[in-house]
Amino acid sequence: MDTLPARLDSSDERRSKVNLMGLSRQQMEVFFIELGEKKFRAQQVLRWIHHAGVTRIDEMTNLGKSLREQLQVIAEVRPPEIVSQQDSSDGTRKWAIRVDGGGLVETVLIPAGRRATLCVSSQVGCSLDCTFCSTGKQGFQRDLSAAEIIGQVWLAIKSYDAFRPDSDRVVTNVVMMGMGEPLLNFDNVVIAMDLMLEDLAYGLSKRRVTLSTSGVVPALDRLAEVSEVSLAVSLHAPNDALRDRLVPINRKYPIASLLQSCRNYMAAQSDKNRVVTIEYTLIAGVNDTPDHAVELAELLRELPCKVNLIPFNPFSQSDYQRPSGSAVSRFWQVLVDAGYIVTVRTTRGDDIDAACGQLVGQVVDRTRRSGRYRANTEKRVIAAG
Ligand code: SAH
Ligand code: SF4
Repeated sequence: MDTLPARLDSSDERRSKVNLMGLSRQQMEVFFIELGEKKFRAQQVLRWIHHAGVTRIDEMTNLGKSLREQLQVIAEVRPPEIVSQQDSSDGTRKWAIRVDGGGLVETVLIPAGRRATLCVSSQVGCSLDCTFCSTGKQGFQRDLSAAEIIGQVWLAIKSYDAFRPDSDRVVTNVVMMGMGEPLLNFDNVVIAMDLMLEDLAYGLSKRRVTLSTSGVVPALDRLAEVSEVSLAVSLHAPNDALRDRLVPINRKYPIASLLQSCRNYMAAQSDKNRVVTIEYTLIAGVNDTPDHAVELAELLRELPCKVNLIPFNPFSQSDYQRPSGSAVSRFWQVLVDAGYIVTVRTTRGDDIDAACGQLVGQVVDRTRRSGRYRANTEKRVIAAG
């Protein structure tokens, strides 16, 4: 990634300007060197965009007039466009975001105490078609560009007017758990995560940026070579027969190869105390019995991990049911008794923890029904465990 891709933001054929929002530090340096400028210009522009929230090149006053004029011809700083914003009573904020070509993705900011976790999308839709996932039902439209991915962080901060130097941090953690499979959009996701960690951009610690994958094993092996972000793996089943049904990519990369790849990822980290988060969506009568929990405890024995149980979020195109609270507790107890650290993604209010993909599903439905979408404030509440 030390040379500029042929088309830096290829999502819109009519646009020829380079979208500076999606350039990593390295790419930005190459960009300015190729213009005959010094490397430090890259640092100045990164700060303007990601520290100051500036999108107008003519406001980048330390660049010099002729450079600004030149940049205005060949470059732009273009965040994605917010279609709707919903605020819940507990401070959760959700956005539907329109990307080039008309697709919609969602971004969710979930405050919890002193932290606020931003759930970021990586693709419009998803090709992997996990049976319990609303995004999977929407099919795959396209990869997001790096600018569209990091632009979600930018928009979240902008929406709180928090680019000012005296502002508290609006986003303390990022999880790549929105729409899409991040490892199938590898290069753009890695660039965006680099910017999340980069001090000249968002400066988050590698522990506070998490990539969630359904298990694209070769890409996970590649990630170990280029990134140190935290890893979450969507397991959802303790054996291949069941996982083949729930997470179809398991037929290509079965559980044993996935867990080996996780161990390799952990071994490649400089900090040896880190653990993988195992995500396990509990679906009533499908994968939520105590026997499943016992099998899971056995399966994970050799992996440094913690387990995050996610009670299934029902949506209109799915017949699956959310398990009862007591079924969740029983499952949790088996794992705790076996010595695991286990969290349950909790819900509050009268609504559910809307799974990523559902907001966009609602927007698309409503748009179809009414011909237009009216932004509204809902009482929906999300809480993350
Ligand atoms: N594609 C990546 C990241 C996006 S999904 C992945 O699969 O890991 C983020 C998490 O939400 C995954 O663990 C996914 O399995 C889970 N999820 C998706 N739909 C859900 C639903 N309806 N109920 C509960 N969890 C769901
Ligand atoms: Fe894609 Fe993840 Fe949904 Fe599976 S769970 S369909 S990988 S977004």
